[in-house]
Amino acid sequence: MSEFGSNSSVTDSYDEYVMPIWKSLDVPVERAHGCTLEDFDGNEYLDAFSGISVTNVGHGNDAVVEAATNQLERFVHGCSYVHPNEPVASLAETIADVSPGDLQKSFFCNSGTEAVEGAIKLARKYTGSTEVVALEMGFHGRTLGSLALTGNNAYKREMAPALNDVFHAGAPYGYRCPRCEGERCTPSCADDIEHVIGTHTSGDVAAVVVEPVMGEAGIIVPPDGWLERVQEIAHDHGALLVCDEVQTGYGRTGELFASAHFDVEPDILTQAKGIANGLPLGAFTASEAVADAFDAGDHLSTFGGNPVACASALATIDQLRGGIVENVREQGRWLESELDSLEGAHDAVGQTRGLGLMWGIELVDPEKTGPRGVAPAPDADLAASVRDHLRDESGVVIGVGGYYKNVLRLQPPLSMTRDQLQRVVEALERALEAV
Ligand code: PMP
Repeated sequence: MSEFGSNSSVTDSYDEYVMPIWKSLDVPVERAHGCTLEDFDGNEYLDAFSGISVTNVGHGNDAVVEAATNQLERFVHGCSYVHPNEPVASLAETIADVSPGDLQKSFFCNSGTEAVEGAIKLARKYTGSTEVVALEMGFHGRTLGSLALTGNNAYKREMAPALNDVFHAGAPYGYRCPRCEGERCTPSCADDIEHVIGTHTSGDVAAVVVEPVMGEAGIIVPPDGWLERVQEIAHDHGALLVCDEVQTGYGRTGELFASAHFDVEPDILTQAKGIANGLPLGAFTASEAVADAFDAGDHLSTFGGNPVACASALATIDQLRGGIVENVREQGRWLESELDSLEGAHDAVGQTRGLGLMWGIELVDPEKTGPRGVAPAPDADLAASVRDHLRDESGVVIGVGGYYKNVLRLQPPLSMTRDQLQRVVEALERALEAV
C-alpha cells in the first residue's frame, strides 16, 4: 500500500481487512467537491481521473445531491423489479430519448460488469447462439462472463477459463498495430473480426462486443469508418452489435454516448460509471425487438435500478445536457492541441490520443523497439513516476493504464474549467521534464 496520506488508521485497516486488490492505492479521500479531492489532513488535489471516469458532473454536484437526498427521504428500496417506481420509469424513458437509434428498453443493474453480463444473456436469448466476439486488449469487467470478454490475461491469471465460446479479434490500436502502417489503423482493420468469425466460431455468433473508444486498453480511438465496418460484419453474420459504453457514456467523449460520433446504431448499449455520478448503477438498453426476447423471470437484480441511484442518474443527465457536454467539447479541443504540442516536445511521449475529455498519453523508451517490432518500447516505469510526480509535487491526480501500463490517463470531471485543465497540463509538463 502507498505510504501516501497520513491517515494511518484508514490505510492500516485497508491492509488488514480489505482484500489486496490493487498494487498501489492513491490519495485517501475525506471529502470531495467539484474537481477537488481533500485528504484527511485537509490537503487538496485536483482530480483529473474522476474515480476512474465516474464523477462526470463533478464531486458533490448540488443537483445530484438534492435529487438523491429527496429520494432517500421518500424511499430507498423496494426492489425495482417488484415495486414499480417513478425514478426507474423516468430514467428508462429518458435513456430511450437520449440513446442512439431505436434503443428503447433498459434493464438496470449496479455496475458495468453486470451490464455486460446481462447484454450477453440477452444477445444469446435473441439470437439463439452462444458465441461472442470481443477485442484483444478490450476491457468489459471482472465477473466471470465479462472477464471472458476482457482481452488481457493480466486480469485472468489463475482464474480462467471463465466462459466458453468467446473469441478475440485485433483492436484498432494504430500506434502498435502489426496490420497497419503509420500511426492510425484503417477501417479494414475491422476485417480481423470477420477472419476470427470465419476461423474460430461455428458461424452463428450472438454478439460482437466493442468499446467505441477503448478505455483500459489505453484510450484507443478507432479510425473513421472502423465501427461502421464492425457493425456491417456483425450484422452480416446475424450477430448483434453491443457497444460497451460503460466508460465512454454520459458525456465523456463530447457526445452523450460515444457511438454518436460514428454512423452506427448499436443493438445493445451497456452503461455504468458516469450514469449516476458515483452512485452504483449500471444498465443495458436494447431495441424493443431485441429486449422482448427476454421473458419474465429471465433476468433480475435485487438492488438493480435502486431509486436513489436512478434519481441521481436523472439529475446527472440533466446536468450533462444543460451545458456540461458542451464544456467537454470546448475543453477537449483545447486539450487536444496542448497534448499535440507535448507529443512534439518530448521523445518519451509516443502518442497522445483521445476524444472529448478522455485522453491517453502513451509513454515510451525511444531507444528501444516495441513488441512485434512496432513503435518504440512501452515505458510503464516512466508512466508510474510521472503519475507520482504529478500527485506529490503538483497535487494533481491522474490515472495510468493501457495494455502495457504505460499510458497516462486524463479523464477529469467533465465540469473541469480551462484554468483547472491548464494546471493539469502545466503539472504534466513539469513532471515530464523532471522524471
Ligand atoms: N466495461 C468497460 C468498458 C469498463 O471500462 C469497465 C470498468 N473499467 C467495465 C465494463 C466494468 O465496470 P465495473 O467496474 O463497474 O464492473
